[in-house]
Amino acid sequence: MPEGPEVWREAEALARIVENEKLLRVEFAWPSVAPYAVRIQAARITKVRPRGKAMTLAFSTGDGLVTHNQLYGEWVTRRSAPPQHRKALRLLFETQRGVAMLYSATDIDWMPANAFDQHSYIANLGPDALDDSLTVEDVLARLLHPRFRNRSLAALLLDQSFIAGLGNYLRSDILFLGAVQGHLKPANCSDVELDALANAIIALPRQSFRTRGITNDTALARDLKQSGWRFGEYRHWVFDREGAACHVCATTISRSAVAGRNVFYCSSCQRNK
Ligand SMILES: [Zn+2]
Repeated sequence: MPEGPEVWREAEALARIVENEKLLRVEFAWPSVAPYAVRIQAARITKVRPRGKAMTLAFSTGDGLVTHNQLYGEWVTRRSAPPQHRKALRLLFETQRGVAMLYSATDIDWMPANAFDQHSYIANLGPDALDDSLTVEDVLARLLHPRFRNRSLAALLLDQSFIAGLGNYLRSDILFLGAVQGHLKPANCSDVELDALANAIIALPRQSFRTRGITNDTALARDLKQSGWRFGEYRHWVFDREGAACHVCATTISRSAVAGRNVFYCSSCQRNK
């Protein structure tokens, strides 16, 4: 499942191909939106915007598309369309810059672009972790809000109505930087821990976007890479590192499952009560 940084990178690549360009070819292969393709043949896509794990495309006609990738959907961009599609094609836009294709997604909605905020998925999103206007102070205020302060951090960090765009790998590494384990609640955290959590919630998704998925300290990651570590081994502080040594204290990283999804942690660096 892609998290905010991956969706933002996908949106950036998509925008580079389609935003404000003349549409040379449009294919809507998904039945619920197929009848609308004809309406936008002469239109332009004025704005591509990631919203949590969804994407909105606004057209110059005032129309709009909302796509949600769920587990298998993905936007792919290429210089030209492949002769055969390896996966189920849902949408295709070709411009002079290239081709953007949505594959395998099943959540595709057509609606007026000025009503995106009322879309059932988007309406329930909190502020986006990667939105430049979101500050550490905003996140601190949310952590301490009565709606959130008594819920476990492990649950909160996956709840898209708390902060949109966070997911499983970001969760484990945010908790590591907050030096607390996931069953603790914001109400149980010290000011220093809350501050560290809020800073990590702002910093890690943005760093991951810039570095294509690195949530570890970037200097440390560079050193480890030079020492021959593979990407999957050096990219995170604790996520997916069960049995490996903590980068800070060398304690063996542990794993626990919360609601069927893994949380990784260092039992020395992260307080458990
Ligand atoms: Zn440690």
